[in-house]
Amino acid sequence: MAFNIVTKNNVRDRFKRAVRPEIWANSEDKDWNNWVWQQQKRIKSMEQLEKVIHVTAEERDAFAQSNEMFNMGITPYYASLIDPDDPNCPIRLQSVPKYGELNILSTDLEDPLGEERDMPVPGITHRYPDRVLFYTTHNCPVYCRHCTRKRKVSDPSSSAANKQLEDGLAYIEAHLEIRDVVISGGDPLSNSDERLEYILSRLRSMDHIEVFRIGTRNLVTLPQRVTQNFADMLKKYHPVFIHTHFNHPKECTQEAFDACTRLADAGCILHNQMVLLKGVNDHPQIVKELNHKLLMMRVRPYYIYQCDLSQGISHFRTPVEVGINIIENLRGWTSGMAVPHFVIDAPGGGGKIPLLPEYVVKHEGKKWVLRNFRNEQFEYIEP
Ligand SMILES: *Cc1c(COP(=O)(O)O)cnc(C)c1O
Ligand code: SF4
Repeated sequence: MAFNIVTKNNVRDRFKRAVRPEIWANSEDKDWNNWVWQQQKRIKSMEQLEKVIHVTAEERDAFAQSNEMFNMGITPYYASLIDPDDPNCPIRLQSVPKYGELNILSTDLEDPLGEERDMPVPGITHRYPDRVLFYTTHNCPVYCRHCTRKRKVSDPSSSAANKQLEDGLAYIEAHLEIRDVVISGGDPLSNSDERLEYILSRLRSMDHIEVFRIGTRNLVTLPQRVTQNFADMLKKYHPVFIHTHFNHPKECTQEAFDACTRLADAGCILHNQMVLLKGVNDHPQIVKELNHKLLMMRVRPYYIYQCDLSQGISHFRTPVEVGINIIENLRGWTSGMAVPHFVIDAPGGGGKIPLLPEYVVKHEGKKWVLRNFRNEQFEYIEP
């Protein structure tokens, strides 16, 4: 059988490149595509932001009142995804302060996930039997307004010093029940390649460590950080899982596509952890579009998190039903690969608890009455 081999893969062409705002229109490509330049040119003040988007009075005032507590920081790349005229742009809601942040509810908690409670040494949260969270820095290229670790992130006084890093590695080395390490932060890609490689090589030298994951939002906020050198370095330490944090289809650009390609081609396995945010992605159609784009980028949707009870993020919280409804509208209606788990990270350190629409209509003895995604009922009788 004769056929024409497709030599041009057009999937990448379905992703758009970020359009540079006026102030960077004349910067050179080699700068724009360089992550160090992107880091250095981060937007940290209202004067800088005003050159890129039309700032509202609320944003100016909310910035003045929140910047002490939680800095603003936006890479030029991520800022270029903001709609300059729409105050409700999903990229803008995630990166520019709003009044909602100043509103601390009595039900908000300082350490909602009990991460400090389960901390045997500073920098390690050991909650589950066989895996730990390992904090390696408190910096991020973009400070997400919905960050659950606001009380730590962006605060230089809490950053993980070398002593803390060594203590964390020593803890992991001494605990033979740990087989999976979640390298977290802040954003671990704020570490230099050398420091990251040191961490990975130490972990790989431990016989009880089977897998680790790098939890990073750089694929979303600073995809230039994922250089070919970095991807090549990871090859030495496989299996390497990358857990990223895309929240909206607008974040799925050609730059992000290329960064995911470098990692996937290097043999990494990519998963996405979305946070459910009011006004950003609290609709099944948006999540479906996001997940379809992620699959094309070789990223498998893994979790949807219910927004937790951290202080200053109440304006992002949705009713729990919203998340269940999203799963109801995905399961069966689209590829199972595009259906993540919807979880609530239980306040006080209970861990992640999955929530599903109810598919069991009735269960009596050996008889199960189930419903499918179209709400049709079926019986399964156990032999
Ligand atoms: C989320 C989390 C993990 C990893 O959980 P998985 O369900 O395995 O992805 C591990 N430790 C802590 C403290 C966590 O919050
Ligand atoms: S990248 Fe993660 S840790 Fe950093 S500000 Fe965003 S949510 Fe918080």
